[in-house]
Amino acid sequence: MKKSARFVIDTHVHSQRHAAGEKASGRAREQGKKITDYTDLESQMGSLSTYDNSERLLYDMDCYGVDMCILQCAFGMTNELNVELMQKYPDKFRCMAISKKVVDRAIETGEWDYKDACAELDELCATGNFCAIGEGPVSVPDSVAAFKHKTYNPSERMDELRATMDVGRKYKLPVTIHTGGPGGYPITHTRWPENWHPYWVHDIAAEYPDVPIIFSHGGMQGGYMTDLVDQCIVVASNFNNVYLETGLYWTELYYKALKYPNVGPEKLIWGTDWGASIPTQTKIGNNPQSFGMQVHTDGIIRHQCDVMGWSLRQVERLDISQDDINLILGGNALNLFKIEFPVTRMFKGRDNIGRENAYK
Ligand SMILES: [Zn+2]
Repeated sequence: MKKSARFVIDTHVHSQRHAAGEKASGRAREQGKKITDYTDLESQMGSLSTYDNSERLLYDMDCYGVDMCILQCAFGMTNELNVELMQKYPDKFRCMAISKKVVDRAIETGEWDYKDACAELDELCATGNFCAIGEGPVSVPDSVAAFKHKTYNPSERMDELRATMDVGRKYKLPVTIHTGGPGGYPITHTRWPENWHPYWVHDIAAEYPDVPIIFSHGGMQGGYMTDLVDQCIVVASNFNNVYLETGLYWTELYYKALKYPNVGPEKLIWGTDWGASIPTQTKIGNNPQSFGMQVHTDGIIRHQCDVMGWSLRQVERLDISQDDINLILGGNALNLFKIEFPVTRMFKGRDNIGRENAYK
């Protein structure tokens, strides 16, 4: 089978899936609603149980020639399950770290302390099991009642971002900043204010020039409004340490980033959000003609939507050098996440890839 690049890494993957069915159907019955309603899914997601969905993931990786995935936890998913999977398949998976215990405690008790969340992150990173922090910086869960009627001011939130960046700096690990909205489950301003204000990251990038920052989704997590994409591109252009995960970019969005000064293929990292249950919409005649989005009237999808296949097709339409594609699909990630590679000088401008002790 022909692969799309020399080494293909999907840097945004959820190998765990929420078992929403039972809880959602019970609640729906009580409220006389459809089982597939997105209503208050977000507030429930932190407490939903998750299960190992790696059988489907391994199938897709094999199907599309994806060599490796970077596993991330979203709401309710556990670091432990991801690390277990990495240990079972050490050449296929790496993991990002997220504060889970302190978030669970917040859901249970209503008490939130970002310093505790960062202490948990610090402990996790000290194990050496993690290649980055994410998905997103530490953040209060939406369901914490005390925060339901409180909006952060920028200083409060920036201090939480700085505390997360301090952990990244200590362990020399990239930190992800989430950007975008899927349309179905809502991402509130309180949970991740910087999600809706990528320009805030200017300050963080300036204060931590030694810590790589990755915009998860690069501003496009769903729909086809590109205002957040534009902002992420501008920040990546202004700072050498800021990277764009290409998320649900369609082909023209890759071109938009690639042609902007100071961005280029060295700044783009392929990542699909595989497992996030964001279905691809097809609207004949629309521009873009296909895009990811959770649509309320369709409800929550049951099947494993094929985001790897869709996303690779968007990349393959790019009329750029294969060397550039090799960077976007794997080389930049090998470099950023310090992943071993057996051969030297295979990636343009990334001479440390494949070198023994290159990252020490
Ligand atoms: Zn995600």
